Amino acid sequence: MKICAQPLARHYDCAMLDLDGVVYVGKDAVAGAPEVLARARQFGARLAFVTNNASRPPDAVAAQLVQLGVPAETADVVTSAQAAAREVADRVPAGARVLVIGGEGLVRAVQAVGLQPVSSADAQPAAVVQGFGRNVGWQELTEGAVAIRDGAIWVASNTDLTVPTTRGLAPGNGSFVNALEAAVGAPPAVVAGKPHRPLFDETIRRTGSRSPLVVGDRLDTDIEGANNCGADSLLVMTGVTEAADLLRAPPARRPSYVAWTLDGLLSAHEVPTRSGTNRQLGGWVGSVVDAGLRVSTVTPDVDPSDGLRLAATAAWDWVDANSGERLRLDDALTALARLG
Ligand SMILES: [Mg+2]
Repeated sequence: MKICAQPLARHYDCAMLDLDGVVYVGKDAVAGAPEVLARARQFGARLAFVTNNASRPPDAVAAQLVQLGVPAETADVVTSAQAAAREVADRVPAGARVLVIGGEGLVRAVQAVGLQPVSSADAQPAAVVQGFGRNVGWQELTEGAVAIRDGAIWVASNTDLTVPTTRGLAPGNGSFVNALEAAVGAPPAVVAGKPHRPLFDETIRRTGSRSPLVVGDRLDTDIEGANNCGADSLLVMTGVTEAADLLRAPPARRPSYVAWTLDGLLSAHEVPTRSGTNRQLGGWVGSVVDAGLRVSTVTPDVDPSDGLRLAATAAWDWVDANSGERLRLDDALTALARLG
C-alpha cells in the first residue's frame, strides 16, 4: 500500500470512479457519496464516472447521477461502449460499416466516432462490436458469427459474465461473448472494459489527467484494471468486495489505498510501521502468530480504515514470504468487524 500525505482528492487531479458499489447501489446513492464527491471537487479533483456498462448512453447515466444528488455532465461519463467504439475506429477506415450487437448506448457510441452501425452481416461490416443489450439473442449472435468468419474485426465492450438484477445475477456481456467465441473458435481481438486498458485510456484522453486515481469496489475489474494501466487506485468496501477478499488478493489485484467508504478520498493515507513481527497504525496493532493473522486496538477512537490497512498489509507480506501456505484470517476478520 502507498502513503499519501495529503487528501487523495487533493493529490490526484482526477478520480476515475466506478459507479455500482461506489456511487450507487441499485437505485440508491451509497450513503454519504454525494457529499464526499462534492468535497472532492472542492479539493481540486475532477470526477470521471467510468462504467463497464455499455447498454446505457452517457447522458442517461449523467441524468441518473444528477437525480441522486451528484452533479454530472454527459462528458463526465465514460462507458465501455465509447471505449469500444474508439478501438474500432482506430482499426477501420473512417465511415466504415460496423455490425452492432448490443443496446442503444453502443449504437450511439459507434455513430459518435463517425462509423455506420449496421445490423446484418450482409452489409459486409469491417468490424463487429459487442456489448450488453437486453434484446440480444440468437439472431444478433448469428449475424456476428457470419461477419467475424468473413473477416470482420471483433471488439467487445467488456467481458463481465454477469449483470446484477433485482432477481439476482443474470447473464452479462461476457456470457454472450463466450457464446460467440464458441461459435467462431477465437476470442475478441480487443476487449475495451475493465480490467483491460482501453476504458481507462479513453478516460485519461478525455480528461487530460496527469495523475488519475481509479476508485472502485471490485478487485478483478477496477483494481486489476488500474494496475494494468499503471494508475494508483482506491478500493472502497461499499460494493462487492469483502475484507477476506482484500486480505487474500494476489499482487495484481492489490489496491494502492483502501477505505471502508468513499470518505477515503478526503483523507491522507498512512501505512503501518513495523517493529519485529508487529505492525502498528493509528492505534491498531497486528501480527501473524502460528499462521493466523491477529489485529487489535490499543487506544479508543481508532479509524476503522486503519485496521483494514494494517490487516491487508500484514496479510500480503506474510503470504508473499510464505508462498503456498494459507493464512488464517478468522481472528482478524472478527476483530475488524467488532472494532471497525
Ligand atoms: Mg462496481
